[in-house]
Amino acid sequence: ILSVKNVSKTYQSGNRKLTVLDQVNFDIPEGESIAIVGPSGSGKTTLLGLCAGLDSASTGSVVLNGQAFEKLSEDQRAAVRNQHVGFIFQNFQLLPTLTALENVMVPLELKKRKDAKEKAKALLEQVGLGDRITHYPSQLSGGEQQRVSIARAFANEPKILFADEPTGNLDTETGDMIENLIFDMNKEKGTTLVLVTHDPELAKRTNRIIRIKGGKIQEDIHG
Ligand code: ATP
Repeated sequence: ILSVKNVSKTYQSGNRKLTVLDQVNFDIPEGESIAIVGPSGSGKTTLLGLCAGLDSASTGSVVLNGQAFEKLSEDQRAAVRNQHVGFIFQNFQLLPTLTALENVMVPLELKKRKDAKEKAKALLEQVGLGDRITHYPSQLSGGEQQRVSIARAFANEPKILFADEPTGNLDTETGDMIENLIFDMNKEKGTTLVLVTHDPELAKRTNRIIRIKGGKIQEDIHG
């Protein structure tokens, strides 16, 4: 479902060129769960952003569900994301002016689903937030905000879910709940799962671990 071919990413900082990713290659078959691990600053988040079509590679190709991002316009990339991709970010990225319910309704309304409200409510109940639906993000704890962002990601019924440190800021209990929700989605719906984590226990639950260092793949281990 995802193919990363000879991908490099460089940033210009002043008159210096910073190579964040250097000739990265891998393929992810549909239904796989994979963890991207490595030291801080090794390029994990950058790689996830390129895979999800949120950012463009400097060179190389990223093909998601048969579509090569580098050949698409920004609007076309957004359409691919809306159709196939779910995201869970470290900093939640909820829309602050919308309630929990409205945040989860966004992808459903993009898909013109008539049952957007009922479906969004059911998803919030599934993540244990049935009694928080009219709260704004600022009125929710970090763990609750993360659960809203998960409900929103699930609303899309994505083919592939990208998660950046999904349990990083959460207490153990909430973290476990969120981990289980994500892995259930992988097992029950066959959603491909790509996550970035510093947590070795979380990485072990996936069936493949890619370790990057200094922007290069050091290990690609199939469990
Ligand atoms: P962490 O585990 O700490 O989150 P990471 O492996 O996810 O780190 P990235 O966030 O991908 O690392 O960043 C890799 C490198 O790229 C870092 O050195 C960072 O400073 C640099 N970088 C990221 N985004 C930009 C940008 N927009 N402009 C310039 N440099 C950037």
